[in-house]
Amino acid sequence: MEKYDVIIVGGSCAGSAAGITLAKAGKNTLIIDKARFPREKLCGGMITEKTAKLLQKTYSVSLESMIDSRYNAFGVYHTDFGRISSYRSDQTLFMVHRYDFDDFFLQEARKAGCTAYLGDEVMEIDRGKIHTASGRVISADYIIGADGCHSTVRKELRGTKNDEKFPLGLEVNIGYDNLKFYVPPEDVFPWVFFGYVKIGYGWVFPKKDFATVGIAGLTHYDDKNLLVAFRRLLAAVCVDPSRIARKIKGHPVPLNNHFKTLGAGNILLVGDAARLVEPLTGEGIYFAILSGTFAAQAILTTQGDQVQTYNVLVKRHLRGLFAQARLARTLYFNRWINTYAMCKMSGNAKWCKYFLELLSGEMDYCRYFKTVLKDRTVYPSL
Ligand SMILES: Cc1cc2nc3c(=O)[nH]c(=O)nc-3n(C[C@H](O)[C@H](O)[C@H](O)COP(=O)(O)OP(=O)(O)OC[C@H]3O[C@@H](n4cnc5c(N)ncnc54)[C@H](O)[C@@H]3O)c2cc1C
Repeated sequence: MEKYDVIIVGGSCAGSAAGITLAKAGKNTLIIDKARFPREKLCGGMITEKTAKLLQKTYSVSLESMIDSRYNAFGVYHTDFGRISSYRSDQTLFMVHRYDFDDFFLQEARKAGCTAYLGDEVMEIDRGKIHTASGRVISADYIIGADGCHSTVRKELRGTKNDEKFPLGLEVNIGYDNLKFYVPPEDVFPWVFFGYVKIGYGWVFPKKDFATVGIAGLTHYDDKNLLVAFRRLLAAVCVDPSRIARKIKGHPVPLNNHFKTLGAGNILLVGDAARLVEPLTGEGIYFAILSGTFAAQAILTTQGDQVQTYNVLVKRHLRGLFAQARLARTLYFNRWINTYAMCKMSGNAKWCKYFLELLSGEMDYCRYFKTVLKDRTVYPSL
């Protein structure tokens, strides 16, 4: 039987991050993914500055070759009030195609020394052994579940084949000939849209050849009318929404699980498999890469309880931020507070300015609100 030091199930951002760290430290590491790369992944493809820094600092990987476009501005739109505010600053938002980004990252893991079995699905884990669809039975000292929101590894840990229910994201790519929102063209930068869904938001993220338009509920009960809400958003931004109606796709967004399921025994869950998507912004790529790194570090540095070390690392870095995000979400999507915030925002773009700093990792929600409330300067919208 084949045996590895570590098997990583899933070779996307979280899995490749863990793989690079482990292989570079000399661990005999296998990545198994059911897909053959490059492959499509439903995602807005927005990468924040903190992610670019993490890639550069921890992996010496530069985003440069994968960037479709970059923007230093950000705007907020509301269904009832129209364009609320927008701001240009020093912080950068990068746009990538997951098709290229994930493939590049997996290649980096292979270059670092990982073996990769692609196009083979992990079906179950039985007494520490991985069983795949092609009939492979492989064992390892540690298993990292980086297999996304429907994680087989997480289901094995929970002892159930039933899946959990997650909020949903819907998305479609739209060519510029069918977009009426980006007039004037100076407005071509990422926008978020409020008011279409009760607790959640929509987005238009521009790339070179098309814009990715999407919507996500941040709680399950938003899902029921999500498609209706998305059609309203599409009607607001598209010349002819009927041209893209059949191209809409959906995928769950596994928002933070309050850190209940991060692993057990010799199994560690990372990224979407551990439900590490930021509860308010829905950002997942950064937290997938960071948790993959932490899982690898826990395996490399701990004698004994690696899951405990991993728990400590994740909680130390993310618990505060995610708790603040959950609170900010509850407050922000309160109908009265939201209307008040929109009025405030439309008179002063400082809310956008500092939100870019929050996304880039320069401040957390506490500092964001303190700074915004303290700063008396009026920043005009673009
Ligand atoms: C509509 C939408 C838009 C989003 N936009 C953004 C955005 O703009 N910016 C951002 O930061 N985040 C965004 N996210 C979140 C982000 O896409 C995820 O958080 C991120 O991809 C998580 O990475 P991951 O490596 O944990 O999992 P994934 O990227 O989901 O990868 C899981 C991998 O595991 C493999 N796999 C699954 N099951 C098995 C199995 N049984 N055996 C073998 N392999 C398996 C899959 O093939 C896949 O390659 C978005 C999410 C959605 C749904």
